[in-house]
Amino acid sequence: MKDSKDRLEALRAEIERRNPAQPEFHQAVREVLETLAPVFTSRPEYADPAVALVERLTEPERQILFRVPWQDDRGRVHVNRGYRVEFNSALGPYKGGLRFHPSVDIGVVKFLGFEQIFKNALTGLGIGGGKGGSDFDPHGRSDAEVMRFCQSFMTELHRHIGEHTDVPAGDIGVGGREIGYLFGQYRRITNRWEAGVLTGKGQGWGGSAIRPQATGYGSVLFAAEMLKVRGESLDGLTAVVSGSGNVALYTIEKLQQLGANALTCSDSQGYVVDDKGIDLALLQQIKEVERGRVSDYAVRRGSSARFVPGGRVWEVPADIAFPSATQNELHAQDARTLVAGGVKAVSEGANMPTTPEAVRILQEAGVAFGPGKAANAGGVAVSALEMSQNAGRVAWSAQRVEDELAGIMRSIHDVAHETAERYGAPGDYVTGANIAGFERVADAMLAQGVI
Ligand code: NDP
Repeated sequence: MKDSKDRLEALRAEIERRNPAQPEFHQAVREVLETLAPVFTSRPEYADPAVALVERLTEPERQILFRVPWQDDRGRVHVNRGYRVEFNSALGPYKGGLRFHPSVDIGVVKFLGFEQIFKNALTGLGIGGGKGGSDFDPHGRSDAEVMRFCQSFMTELHRHIGEHTDVPAGDIGVGGREIGYLFGQYRRITNRWEAGVLTGKGQGWGGSAIRPQATGYGSVLFAAEMLKVRGESLDGLTAVVSGSGNVALYTIEKLQQLGANALTCSDSQGYVVDDKGIDLALLQQIKEVERGRVSDYAVRRGSSARFVPGGRVWEVPADIAFPSATQNELHAQDARTLVAGGVKAVSEGANMPTTPEAVRILQEAGVAFGPGKAANAGGVAVSALEMSQNAGRVAWSAQRVEDELAGIMRSIHDVAHETAERYGAPGDYVTGANIAGFERVADAMLAQGVI
């Protein structure tokens, strides 16, 4: 075990040296490597330095970086950067979303792509890992500006993607509107109706029922599974949810369907706490139709809700917590506040929202902690179901997709839970998810030779 730990530590140091100034990527790699020592001991073929399995797994198969010039409504030209990191295709075509946010750089895209490898493996649906995006900020841009940006982005990206090659979807800043513009430009350039090249499409033109809901719904279903193991359910619990985008909205919806009360939502300017519970119809109207801010919600909701500028949702005591905005949004102090407030479970709707120290604090306090690569895998799972429907030229009913999603989330929970027990870390879903995902990818890589 000590030898495995030393080798993994040396590998980590080398990865950080070769990939300078990519803190999010270092964090994601460190978190996975820290949990792999037991599997290296029991399966020495994974650790054989002559095979360099982990070295290959932490180096993307391909990294694409390109210029995205576009014109705003006044005719001024802007230049953004586009990224697509095709990380690992041992299990299937690269699959993972596109993020449009000013914080996007190569390190952020690599962290997301690396996480995606294990998440996609956990779904069991034959998809590899990739991620992409741009430092473009859609906030405050007109529909026409967003369309011109998406068209320019796809004019370059189209040559790298395809239904059997690489299948992007949405992420922060990329929702149904952007996927529509991207798909239109792909179709125009290639002169192909290749529905399976992008997921998250509109339901009238190749999209799957329940895809918009899938990540949020899945994160709540994962929490319900964690609670079930402890003999509890969501019914009657209070919840704090961060974010107010795709994942947060459908997290709130599923919580309400299952009898829990979601008290909060947030954006980059602050959070709202609503003593009566979030009015989802009002929040959706403001966020999805008007593209407004959560502060507008507090103004229109009346006396039960208040907006806390710059505040952190974790200040609000609740039974369960769903970080659903962005990476590193739940820090050590927030974890202590949650524990002091009696939180029972935390389910990550976002990718890597909880810092490593905060994860440790939650786990040591006995809180059930569902890491993003397991808890938020519902989105990519339904994306894979969208690919299946596209390949068969069929559209499944919402009920069928929702049943499939529930089965997949249960199976991800169970494999993470069982793997953690098998490796002597009962209840540790981080270790369980990392090892279970790793084993599937590693076995495929070993079988396919040195590529
Ligand atoms: P959206 O763009 O729909 O919403 C993002 C939300 O997070 C907004 O409320 C946004 O507020 C807030 N946010 C974004 N960046 C920051 C920041 N730096 N600081 C504070 N708040 C921020 O994105 P999604 O809901 O799709 O994604 C949310 C998270 O879920 C991401 O981590 C994403 O990777 C992850 N995820 C998404 C999946 C999907 O299917 N969409 C699948 C799996 C994971 P504001 O508008 O003020 O920026």
